Amino acid sequence: MSKTAVTVAYGDGIGPEIMRATLDVLEASGAELALETIEIGKSVYLRGNSSGIEPESWESLRRTKVFLKAPITTPQGGGYKSLNVTVRKAFGLYANIRPCISYVPFVESKQPGIDVVIVRENEEDLYGGIEHRQSVDSFQCLKIMTRPGTERIVRYAFEYARSFQRKKVTCFTKDNIMKLTDGMFHKVFEEIGADYPDIEKEHWIVDIGSAKLADTPQAFDVVVLPNLYGDILSDVVAQIAGSVGLAGSANIGAHYAMFEAIHGSAPRRAGQNVANPSGLLLAAVQMLVHIGQPEAAERVHNGWLRTIEEGIHTYDIFRDGKSRRKVGTKEFGQAVIANLGKIPETLKPVRYALDRPNPRSDFPYHRPEETKVLLGVDIFVEFAKSVEELASALRVAAERGALALETIANRGMSVWPFGSGETLLAGPFQCRFFARNRSAELPRRAIVDLLGSVEAGGIEFTKTELLYTFNGVEGFSRSQGA
Ligand code: NAD
Repeated sequence: MSKTAVTVAYGDGIGPEIMRATLDVLEASGAELALETIEIGKSVYLRGNSSGIEPESWESLRRTKVFLKAPITTPQGGGYKSLNVTVRKAFGLYANIRPCISYVPFVESKQPGIDVVIVRENEEDLYGGIEHRQSVDSFQCLKIMTRPGTERIVRYAFEYARSFQRKKVTCFTKDNIMKLTDGMFHKVFEEIGADYPDIEKEHWIVDIGSAKLADTPQAFDVVVLPNLYGDILSDVVAQIAGSVGLAGSANIGAHYAMFEAIHGSAPRRAGQNVANPSGLLLAAVQMLVHIGQPEAAERVHNGWLRTIEEGIHTYDIFRDGKSRRKVGTKEFGQAVIANLGKIPETLKPVRYALDRPNPRSDFPYHRPEETKVLLGVDIFVEFAKSVEELASALRVAAERGALALETIANRGMSVWPFGSGETLLAGPFQCRFFARNRSAELPRRAIVDLLGSVEAGGIEFTKTELLYTFNGVEGFSRSQGA
């Protein structure tokens, strides 16, 4: 078998120790790897590179397309960008896959029998990091979700389930509140789910779904979620399964992939040969499957399960009475090496079938044909006087134009013409204008003219959002109480 090129980074804190132990096991397993080592993290940041990675390291990653990464330390203080987010976005690693499994009775867990795979969307949602301070009072973060981004994560979740013989995919959203963003995610889940009749599907509102997931994780199999919910819930499930130190993750894109432990660089444990290398080792198992070396993946994973079963444990999972031998990072790796070729006796052995294709990750996008019609505009304005005075000033500004003032809202709550005196007025007012003549097309120019009149009227606008219908369906939310 020819060797597969893989870029490796030893990272910071406990990173170098757990990477060394992991690579020892990979080498002994017969995995055919040609490793290229790059330097990332703290030392690169402190050299003045705010992204934590040098240009020549990008070249290695572009060449190998596979990255096995130890955790890094992001220095405190301003200006340093998250390396993980940079790599994920630069390589389009849209899917974050985290298998969370409990190993009862060998590792303590609040919940025996967990075997859940979290498939988290990795690029969109609130993680665009598009934030603005709009006024003295008001701060905003944009939640952007796209149809192509959603289609590919949902399809990947179903492909993953099918490929790994899983029976059910559950989707979590908050579409009772966020009808457009989360509503689209849910709708796409239903649409794409229809292509997978062999797989059970269910949808939960994220709040009660999370409660159910923490209470009865055994009822879940594959769970697909938008970015923020996935970020939170993948840690919750990994922790109740046993320890965040045991979980690995894959970041998958159409052409690139990155594999890492879910924990950080634990600087307080660094250099003491005590850290648990299991999270990174299990991430490396996911990598071996990904690059088409399932036999090595199976050998490493089963050898690891056997080691856990034998009670050979690092300090974080060691329990008197349950564990047999407390070992350091290096010794744990050596114990796994001694168990390569063995299978666990009590825990379920894994099987990464040779004839099973990896889940697809490259999906064409077919943009739906939809007619977009401009109806009006929301102009957000700062205004220090009463709502009535604002309404009069805006009506004067709009007097001779094609748009008429319809409503004013504050933080999503209607305050004019209907409102409650109790509503807190803070930050910009959202002033909604619709075309006076709904039977003719509204020219975009009318919006520019209105904005000019608002400015001329001495009203301070902070931003605008255009109001469209798509195939006759409103592409904007209505304020509460309107
Ligand atoms: P952490 O996950 O590094 O450590 C929290 C605690 O968990 C540690 O003190 C330790 O007790 C325990 N722990 C974590 N991993 C362990 C292991 N393998 N074996 C045994 N015990 C382990 O979280 P933190 O302390 O909040 O973050 C430290 C640094 O890591 C920060 O600079 C943070 O930015 C960075 N970080 C990096 C990544 C990454 O590179 N993917 C992820 C998260 C945090």
